[in-house]
Amino acid sequence: MAEICRVCHDPLTITLDSEDLEDGDQQQQTVPDDLLLPCGCHFHWQCLLDQSTAVTTTLSCPSCNAFLSPNAAGASSSSSSSAAPPLTTPIILTHYTNEGGVQPYLDIYPSLAEEAFLAAHPEARPARAFHTLASEGEVQGMVELLTDADGDADDEEEEEGARLSATRLLAWRDPLNGGQTALHVALEARQEEAVWVLLWLGSRASRDSFPEAVVQIAAANGLPRRLEGTADGEDVRFVRDERGRTAGDVCLELGEPWTRLVEGGLFI
Ligand SMILES: [Zn+2]
Ligand SMILES: [Zn+2]
Repeated sequence: MAEICRVCHDPLTITLDSEDLEDGDQQQQTVPDDLLLPCGCHFHWQCLLDQSTAVTTTLSCPSCNAFLSPNAAGASSSSSSSAAPPLTTPIILTHYTNEGGVQPYLDIYPSLAEEAFLAAHPEARPARAFHTLASEGEVQGMVELLTDADGDADDEEEEEGARLSATRLLAWRDPLNGGQTALHVALEARQEEAVWVLLWLGSRASRDSFPEAVVQIAAANGLPRRLEGTADGEDVRFVRDERGRTAGDVCLELGEPWTRLVEGGLFI
């Protein structure tokens, strides 16, 4: 019996558009996309992620209502009707088959939690994208995203009050990644150029503490010292992650050559 997705009732495949390298033709390729939950229900990956808010709240299958997480307290053990927050991060072990092969013990809870968080906090999407760019050292993309954030904040303030300004985006702490800022992320990925750009844009460190090469690049690209001469905005140097670490603490953990940023007085 061929299984179908319990959300959209289509077969458990998806069609990918792929470019044929030989003649440049668009070709369509049908590949498996079969996410099997512990209860025995099948879903497309995206179809289950679209139910992320309900699944992470109830830890139950959106089709058959079976409880899905072996390590969280089941609804039956609770005497009150109000759902207490789980004491440990739940696990939902699935069996997932896609074009990359089979993942027999895939915990889908982190993906669902991320999706549910982003559904509730749409302003975090550009901020998460900013952190990804920082971890990859994609400085040009980071600068463009900040420019967009400023433009959007002006244009659509009434419509989307929750949107983050560029200054808030620079100091934003990612609740899905230990409360780290883009600067924590760039340091841990050892992306030196991104680190300097974040300090230039998002800190009140004195100009003298930047290497001459950084000052020249910043000037050539018209990068503003966003916090200079204003009390508004959090200085990225002093934002702590959930472990209480500032960017300077991360430098000391990383060792040479990063400790020199701290020894050079940049974080005072
Ligand atoms: Zn589906
Ligand atoms: Zn089910």
